[in-house]
Parts: sequence; C-alpha cells; structure tokens
Amino acid sequence: MDQIRIEELQVFAHHGVYPEENVKGQNFYVNVDLYTATREAGVMDDLELSTNYGEVCRFIHSFLTENTYKLIETAAERTAEAVLLEFPRIKGLTLEIRKPEAPIPLPFDSVSVKITRGWKRAYLACGSNMGDRESYLNKAVQELAEDNKCRVIKVSDWMDTTPYGGVEQDNFLNGAIAIDTLYTPEELLEFLHEVEKKNDRERIVHWGPRTLDLDILLYEGCVLHTEKLTIPHIDMHNRDFVLKPLRQIAPYEIHPVLGKSVVQLYDEVKRNGEKHTV
Ligand code: AMP
Repeated sequence: MDQIRIEELQVFAHHGVYPEENVKGQNFYVNVDLYTATREAGVMDDLELSTNYGEVCRFIHSFLTENTYKLIETAAERTAEAVLLEFPRIKGLTLEIRKPEAPIPLPFDSVSVKITRGWKRAYLACGSNMGDRESYLNKAVQELAEDNKCRVIKVSDWMDTTPYGGVEQDNFLNGAIAIDTLYTPEELLEFLHEVEKKNDRERIVHWGPRTLDLDILLYEGCVLHTEKLTIPHIDMHNRDFVLKPLRQIAPYEIHPVLGKSVVQLYDEVKRNGEKHTV
C-alpha cells in the first residue's frame, strides 16, 4: 500500500519509568509510515482526498505531550490507536518512538520501540433461536457499531435455518457480519463474549438453544489455533447456515487453509450435504 512518511518528529514529553523523567521531561523522536491509498489524491491534486500530514504531526505531538506513560511501548501503542481512530483514510501504520536521552549510564545513540498496527477485516457469524431472535441479532450489530474499535462494513440478511448438532430445539435466525477492527483475534473473541453475555446468553447445553451466538469465521487471512480460538472457524466450511449468509456479503473471500472461495465452499456443502466435525 502507498505510504506517507513522517520522520524524526520531535516531541518534548514526560514518559519514563523513573519519577524524575516524569518531572523533568526529555526529547522523543517519532517516525511514522502511514499506510493509505494516495492514488486518487495524487491524480486529482486534492488534499481533501488524502490525509493532511501536518494534522497528523500536530495530533501526535499533542497526544504525546498531553499523556504520560511509563513505557515507550505504551506510548507507541496508544498513539498508534489514537491516530487510526482519528484519521479514517489511514488503514495502518508503522510507528517508532526513539528516546535518545533515556537514562542509561553507558554510551549509546538511542533506544526505540517500533510497532505496526492497523484495521483488520473480520467476518463474523451470528445466530439466535430464543426470544425475539431478530432483535438479538440487530442488537449485536448495534453493539459492534457502537464500539470504537469496530466498524461495521456489511451485514447479510437474517436467514431462518433448521438447528444443527442433534439437539431438539427451535429454528435459528442466522447471519454474517463484516467488520474492520483494531482488536486482535483474542481481544475480538473476548469482546464478542461480552456482547453475548449482555444479551442474556447463558452457556448451558453445548449445541443448545441460545439468545445470541457470535463466532469469528475469518480474520484478515489469519490462520490461528490456540486453546481458546481457531481461525478460520473450525467448522465453517461444513455449515450451510454459515456459508449462505457469508456468501451474500463476501462471496469471493478465500478460506486461507482450504484455498477455496466462500461460493465454492457453499456449492460443495449443497452438493455433498453438511458434515458435522465438532
Ligand atoms: P460457542 O459455543 O459457539 O460460543 O463457542 C464456544 C467456544 O469456542 C468459545 O468460548 C471459544 O473459546 C471457542 N472458539 C474457538 N474458535 C472460535 C471462533 N473462531 N469463534 C468463536 N469461538 C471460538
């Protein structure tokens, strides 16, 4: 992606683990690569179509002088997030904070922390088969939209489906949601669990009835397997009720393990029937 680069922005601020650093202050230097499409602005010669790097410099300068952190890791993390929330055309950034006057009693040039952060596209599955199903799904979308670390990009139709997994229960209403998020996969799962809980979700019977179920299907081409989380969702390619709404909002998205598009996976399930693997 195109980049706008800011080099060696000087900020006199008070970050540091030692109390005297918080009192006296020192110079920090910030380097930033902003990942953003510059083509349209470049062709049209129009600042409105780009991000004003002067504003970004002022913003970073104010942010780092108005806040004080012990660690430059934290200063970098919070600054990166604040820039991504403030400037909507910036998709990601690499931000380095240098601290050449750090209190190290040895000859050295500088110490620094450098991080890369950005908006990640994720696809979620949602389902409900208790109470006012439609209202639970709409509430989930609303809660995602109201969280500043999520932007709702697309929402499928809600689709009435028969239950899966062998437990006798009412029909589900299912859908898929595309979001851009600043959460890591683990943080996103935690946030989705909070939304489920707020919406009366209780985990009683595995596969059983639920007011609201939110799963992460895909997360920016990521492949991940931990005790708590498997991405892509371990069973998404076998579930008609997941693939049908997902096909509506992301037909050509590729499953990063199977190397097939959502349309291909849906066609296969239609041809071969659903298989239950979990
Ligand atoms: P569920 O009953 O669908 O809410 O899922 C139960 C558990 O599955 C969750 O508590 C997660 O720890 C785990 N899990 C593993 N992979 C995923 C995923 N991709 N999305 C959501 N939950 C997942």
